[in-house]
Amino acid sequence: MRVGIVSDIHGNWEALSAVSSALEKERVEEVWCLGDIVGYGPDPQECIKWVKQNCRLTVCGNHDKAVCREEEATFFNHIARKAIMWTCEQLSEEEIRFLDSLPYTISLGEILLVHSSPESPRSWGYILNEWDAERAFENCEERLIFVGHTHRPQAYEYRAGEALRSEFPVTIKLNIRYLINPGSVGQPRDRDPRASFGILEDETFRLLRVEYDIEKTQAKMYERGLPEHLAKRLEIGA
Ligand code: ZN
Repeated sequence: MRVGIVSDIHGNWEALSAVSSALEKERVEEVWCLGDIVGYGPDPQECIKWVKQNCRLTVCGNHDKAVCREEEATFFNHIARKAIMWTCEQLSEEEIRFLDSLPYTISLGEILLVHSSPESPRSWGYILNEWDAERAFENCEERLIFVGHTHRPQAYEYRAGEALRSEFPVTIKLNIRYLINPGSVGQPRDRDPRASFGILEDETFRLLRVEYDIEKTQAKMYERGLPEHLAKRLEIGA
């Protein structure tokens, strides 16, 4: 089966529609979403609608939770919090209920989907290096772990109790465990501003990048009064 994996869309409709076209061209049979559908970007409603229509499986991200529950936003910096408050005002009760209903983790037996980390799905820990990845492997049973949250595409494999970095495309070998982050659709932070996502097919995970109309997203953010810093960072991918 060919599965598209998206994460950290963050209300960026231009980025998401470019990814959506790419997924169609790749003829994926289904799409999984690793959370943070909203927050930061100017089109939360369009992005929620797309996820509802296109994603068979979706876990919640910290921004999705923060829109629903004020206490979840206390750990956000003031810029992110401003965007969360703006997002909350745009959404209908039904859309908020949808975000609030999303699970923290989904296990498919061999595969685990989680926004932050298997070790602390509710306290939003980051997997930034081999040590974080090792803890993640030690705290779940699944062979293939998909995470988002850092907005950086990364892959690790786990052999003999040690996590090692893997290159894309990842060739998935039998008896080895993998942890893969497909990067962010709507706010990449690896110095590549193109939207990032991945495709899992049989024994391979491919990372894909697509260009989108960044200026259009930025113009909407300025027009809708979202913090300038959030618009600026899109063009440098950081
Ligand atoms: Zn995020």
